[in-house]
Amino acid sequence: MLQRGLLDWVTRGVHLGWQKVWLSPQVDDLFLPNNMFDASVEECATNGGPNVEPGEGIPCKVLRIEAGDLEAVATWQRTWRAKPQFGGLRLNLAYNGYGVKTEDDALLAAAKRLSGEFFWVSHTFGHRHLDCYAPTETGCRGATATEAIREIEDNRASGDRFGLSVDSTSMVTPQISGLRNEDFLRGAAEAGIRFLVSDTSRAEFVPPIGNTGLPSAVPSVFLIPRRPTAIFYYAADSESGRPGSEPDEYNFLFGPAGMFRKADGSPFYDVDQKYADIIDRESDLTLQYLLRGEVYPLMFHQANLWRYREDRTLLTDLLGSVLTKFEAMSRLPVMSVEQTRLGQLLTERMGY
Ligand SMILES: [Zn+2]
Repeated sequence: MLQRGLLDWVTRGVHLGWQKVWLSPQVDDLFLPNNMFDASVEECATNGGPNVEPGEGIPCKVLRIEAGDLEAVATWQRTWRAKPQFGGLRLNLAYNGYGVKTEDDALLAAAKRLSGEFFWVSHTFGHRHLDCYAPTETGCRGATATEAIREIEDNRASGDRFGLSVDSTSMVTPQISGLRNEDFLRGAAEAGIRFLVSDTSRAEFVPPIGNTGLPSAVPSVFLIPRRPTAIFYYAADSESGRPGSEPDEYNFLFGPAGMFRKADGSPFYDVDQKYADIIDRESDLTLQYLLRGEVYPLMFHQANLWRYREDRTLLTDLLGSVLTKFEAMSRLPVMSVEQTRLGQLLTERMGY
């Protein structure tokens, strides 16, 4: 176990004197289907993924998790929560009411049954891009304030109907859209939204100082930086050669012939990376966020909760690895908090 002094050293004194660490995973797109990456089908690997909505004529496999997947992740979470150090662990599910088509939806029934075990936050009703909301002659236009309010209120009504206890002053916007759209922001503020998440993989959303956030163009709406992980939106499986393969996608991006390159043009990895390597590397990175007392939430998507084998999922493999490593180093409690509480922690620290 790390002593306090050593922990201060590891974290370079950046942690804020809280006698706990934070781990707040958010899982977007609950109730919606997601297209899966497939390296063997061009349309399903364009720019590193199928950048199309699921629909007719789209050749990519579509995956929407089932009731048993949500049950399995709840069981996994309960197992960790049974240890006092991890009693505060709780996933935050970002849901879209539009994805529930029938009242006899088994996933919805599971969500209702398990609602008290998760945090719930809105991801808009229809998951439409808020900066390209409706077609125009020249392309598309962003959502208006009225449309923003409708998305928020329709999804709030779904949450009420489903019996979910939703964090009503926060939301996650689809594909991190809307954060620069003043009409949307005004509508969101009017509908009572105070906290949105951004994406730290985009430089414009990285605050100059750690554990702070960013203001938006509307003063009452604050942006919480959110960390993406290498568990991708279109990934669900640990095996290569299957639709939704995490290692295939990872190597497509970072492998010997990968789309992304170092500054000198060389690949990030000279050999294809195996699933176990990816989980090990990514859990080390996530562990560093914990050790430095970072408050920011982590981004995942519903397909990451799919049981690819027995009760294994990409999300629980990664977070399980993080927690196992942390358990071997520290006895500090690990806490998950709702998005609004995250925003309050950041704004309090910034003296807002
Ligand atoms: Zn989404």
